[in-house]
Amino acid sequence: MRLILLGAPGVGKGTQATLLSKALSIPHISTGDMFRYHISNNTDLGMEAKQYIDKGMLVPDEITVGMVADRLKQQDCRNGFVLDGFPRTIQQAKFLDKILKDLNIQLDMVINITLDDREIIKRLSGRRICPQCSAVYHIEDKPPKNEGLCDNCGTGLVQRGDDKEETIIKRLQVYHSQSEPILEYYKDKVKIVNIESHKLLEVTTKRVFEALGVDYKTLNAC
Ligand code: AMP
Repeated sequence: MRLILLGAPGVGKGTQATLLSKALSIPHISTGDMFRYHISNNTDLGMEAKQYIDKGMLVPDEITVGMVADRLKQQDCRNGFVLDGFPRTIQQAKFLDKILKDLNIQLDMVINITLDDREIIKRLSGRRICPQCSAVYHIEDKPPKNEGLCDNCGTGLVQRGDDKEETIIKRLQVYHSQSEPILEYYKDKVKIVNIESHKLLEVTTKRVFEALGVDYKTLNAC
């Protein structure tokens, strides 16, 4: 299955993509995670991308699209993938069309996860992540058992640099002006399913799995 997850920052795309990746045994390709990996390894690409990410801006296509093209050409993507955070502009969607055409593959579905902006700000400003194992927490809705420490590995939790309120607002502006129009672009090209993000993760996950016709129970088998 070749899937794209669309939606504003904070709607839970990353979490749903991780679950789908496990249930369907397909790679989860997150451009945000790829950039964070480069940043934590101090690569040139990471240092360049950081300047934009910290301001809530999009990383320029010259950096982003080549990174995605290289990833999609890898062998493990032949049987499918779930793209999370790419494309983020119509320009990137056109570029993706070209890569997929060259690889002679087609998209199966676009899943668009929706959520009110006010709820997004609340979710993102309270989000904390484990820098070691990438587990995600929320200071009110999903606190760790021991304050500030990851339940899985005990590492101190951190707030992502771009989860500060002023940066979140900028990211939402960028989303509405540059990323939301992608839905119109895909309208006549591929099946789009809109799913409202629910406060309870399981509810959103069930909605996503239902839309794909995937048995929710497969998750327990993973
Ligand atoms: P995310 O983890 O998907 O919220 O991405 C974090 C940040 O990485 C975004 O706010 C952008 O600055 C950058 N980023 C991720 N994906 C892209 C993309 N497809 N194009 C440009 N910038 C991106």
